[in-house]
Amino acid sequence: MIATLDIQVTKTGKSKLPEIDFNNLPFGKYFTDHMLEVDYADGEWKQVTIKPFQNLSLSPALAAIHYGQSIFEGIKAYKDREGNPFIFRPFDNYKRFNVSAERMMMPAVPEDIFIEGMRRLIEIDKDWIPMKTDYSLYIRPFMFSTDEVIGVKASDSYKFMILLSPTGPYYSAPMKIYVEEKYTRAARGGIGFAKAAGNYGSSMMATAVAKKQGYDQVLWTDAFEHKYVQEIGTMNVFFVIGDKVLTPDLEAGTILEGVTRDSAIAVLREEGYTVEETSINIDDVVRAYEAGELKEVFGTGTAATISMIRELRYEDYTMKFDTDSWKVAPTVKRVLTDIREGRKADTRGWMFKI
Ligand SMILES: *Cc1c(COP(=O)(O)O)cnc(C)c1O
Repeated sequence: MIATLDIQVTKTGKSKLPEIDFNNLPFGKYFTDHMLEVDYADGEWKQVTIKPFQNLSLSPALAAIHYGQSIFEGIKAYKDREGNPFIFRPFDNYKRFNVSAERMMMPAVPEDIFIEGMRRLIEIDKDWIPMKTDYSLYIRPFMFSTDEVIGVKASDSYKFMILLSPTGPYYSAPMKIYVEEKYTRAARGGIGFAKAAGNYGSSMMATAVAKKQGYDQVLWTDAFEHKYVQEIGTMNVFFVIGDKVLTPDLEAGTILEGVTRDSAIAVLREEGYTVEETSINIDDVVRAYEAGELKEVFGTGTAATISMIRELRYEDYTMKFDTDSWKVAPTVKRVLTDIREGRKADTRGWMFKI
């Protein structure tokens, strides 16, 4: 690890930590005392700074606001049982961040700025990492274009930042999901594989319509036939059919390649399950349900890790599940928690010590 990254650090005179109620931590609402900020201009990254969390002053002509060159990541830091802080798989998020950057015509962020910058920021605010099961420090790296010109073109200047937010146990009750057939999240050739801000703005209408009808989220389907399932909100999706675990493959570039998805696949294979990345037709899912072969449906993502789905609605057909009797989703959740809390060996180097 490059520990020589030059960071200009200005610490706050007064920590906000005593004001935070750690028993009440809504997701993404409270931020730690410091943030990381670095600008890109004239073809290079400038001085990296860590400074007190504060507002930005930006031109109303800021390119990102008008044309949406804006990407982000979501990562978590934890403390193990001895109180040692670590980050879960940050290099995987780093790689994905630059995949998103490339697709959006934004500059790559160097590894030392992303990883070492994050490590130093967390080191400074480490007292903000809760030390309780299921609590964590959510890490939000992001980058946006900063040219002050109203003209449609890739910006010449950018800002990369990292914020930290302590978060409580993200208990997600088993969800009701609506299979989307009208709206589209991503099509071949689009930006579905990028964690780009516009993907989320464009998804809100479908989610709002589904919520009005009593559903928590939509399961996106392909843009052409609305038959092949993609993912749910900010989660990848898994189906247990017969003795196999299926998840949509990434070939069409329409699905976000989740780090939790990858972790779940690795854990399941190690536990002896057959996992297939394949195209999944919703009609086959319905047929499996009718034949009594569809055992479990669940989502994976950094925020909740695993979310069970208790109801799946496709057209006029409702599939219901008794999640209490499930085996596969709880196994993934348990093994990932055991690795994070040191009860199970971290054989893959997923835990990056701070
Ligand atoms: C972030 C995200 C996921 C989950 O990715 P993780 O790396 O597991 O957190 C899945 N789908 C979408 C659309 C996302 O934005």
